[in-house]
Amino acid sequence: MSEPTAAAAAASQSTSPSVLAALVGALRGGTIEVVDLTAPLSSTTPVLELPPEFGQTAVFELEEISRYDDRGPAWYWNNFRSGEHTGTHFDAPNHWVTGRDLADIASVPARQLVAPAAVLDVTDEVAKDPDFLVEIAHIEAWQDRYGPLPDAGWLLVRTGWSSRSAAQDTFLNADETGPHTPGLSAECARWVAERTPVLGLGVETVGTDAGRAHGFDPAFPCHSYLMGSGKYGLTQLQNLAELPPTGAVVIAGPLPIVSGSGAPARVLALVERPGQPS
Ligand code: MN
Repeated sequence: MSEPTAAAAAASQSTSPSVLAALVGALRGGTIEVVDLTAPLSSTTPVLELPPEFGQTAVFELEEISRYDDRGPAWYWNNFRSGEHTGTHFDAPNHWVTGRDLADIASVPARQLVAPAAVLDVTDEVAKDPDFLVEIAHIEAWQDRYGPLPDAGWLLVRTGWSSRSAAQDTFLNADETGPHTPGLSAECARWVAERTPVLGLGVETVGTDAGRAHGFDPAFPCHSYLMGSGKYGLTQLQNLAELPPTGAVVIAGPLPIVSGSGAPARVLALVERPGQPS
């Protein structure tokens, strides 16, 4: 009885087009590359620092439970402590007061965790000015060249800032006037949140807002407008230079912390390399 069933299944497989089979073949053949956009998570991973009157996020810490020793002779494992917003992480809408009644991190629909990405490259501008702000005109110029921002996709802003991520001081780039890191102007943040179809904004810096954004109107406009519009943030991304301006697919996997405001995430991108041997 099992023979006809197996034959039928084989026939079905050979005659039905399978996008997933093609995907697996392309991954194995190297014509689709998996690019890791995630920063390694350790006690030296940079974290946001707020003025001292505010609560502070934790750095990532490991606490060893056992390591093939008398606490557990055949096994190694750890507990860890981390902020939700430590390292490469995903901001849920309820992270900001404007989105307080919207989704927590565990409520972000799984289908939104796989999404196309547009990559805006402002590396040259940021190299000249660490306080560089993306304006609406920059995104409009990108759209004139590459087409509309992806519906229910990510806008990823490539700044080159991840090259500073080995150390807290170079990553936060703070002086007596505060941190100096790139971001979006308040007007641009509002436009992205309210006038574009994107799912969210991804950046290389410690948060989606610019270092000076505490002084913008409103303060922290990317958080304020994006979270208030039910959109998301992805931060501390790296390897954005390996992505094309359009066509990459981002897989962002935050931990589903029930009621949480965000979570560390493994963020990957699928990138077509048509020139590679299959
Ligand atoms: Mn965050």
